[in-house]
Amino acid sequence: MRVVVKIGTSSICGDDGLLMDDRVQHLAGQMAWACQNGYELIVVSSGAVGAGIGRTGRHPHDLIEKQALAAIGQARLMQAYQRHLPDIAVAQILLTRADLEHEERRGNSSNTIKRLLAWGALPVVNENDTVAHEEIRIGDNDTLAARVAELVQADLLILLSDVDGLYTEDPRTAPHAEHISRVRWVTQEMLAQNSGARGPWGTGGVHTKLQAAAMAQKSGIPTVLADSQTLGVLQHLLQGEPLRATYFLSQPEA
Ligand code: GLU
Repeated sequence: MRVVVKIGTSSICGDDGLLMDDRVQHLAGQMAWACQNGYELIVVSSGAVGAGIGRTGRHPHDLIEKQALAAIGQARLMQAYQRHLPDIAVAQILLTRADLEHEERRGNSSNTIKRLLAWGALPVVNENDTVAHEEIRIGDNDTLAARVAELVQADLLILLSDVDGLYTEDPRTAPHAEHISRVRWVTQEMLAQNSGARGPWGTGGVHTKLQAAAMAQKSGIPTVLADSQTLGVLQHLLQGEPLRATYFLSQPEA
């Protein structure tokens, strides 16, 4: 089973942007378990800008500073994954929208990722922030993860975040918000309802998660949105054990 797992900035960085080692360790332990149990895992990890802020104490004032911080943070991010996955070769893949749209570059990216999987390595993907200017940006890693899932014909897309799924209203402000465990179709209404909400350093929010789920859905790939901090979240999801999360059906299932 081929699975793309997206890890958001808020899942591995604290509010100050610093990479939280215990969180990386928690997720890395589960990645190792998945790789050792025959799952082909591709990780799409945010956190480069956050880790760069954490390392330098600088806050970006414009896109160039954000890109420079991502360059610093990306190295730290990869170090953290490799340190917590001592028995697995962790491979860095940096992509731009152009890479995914240009036929030859798309083919090359897909071939590289598939070869890494065949070798039992763990591809860790992020947007190539250095070259990705506003007009050519994918922009958020939820969308990047959906595109990668499509690129490698994944069987499942898992979006790990700081929320345990979709709610009828924002649960932080509406105490009666109800959790939604299953979504057949991502509708325009859902997208419009969830247009705000984002963390301090990440780019996404519920809106981009819905967009990603809709993209994956069209490619026949189901998506799960779950809380990265739930103990053993990946194991539970991959083994089909009950877990509070939102499951977005793929188009054939819907
Ligand atoms: N590429 C950005 C980073 O690694 C994250 C984009 C996002 O959070 O969606 O910091």
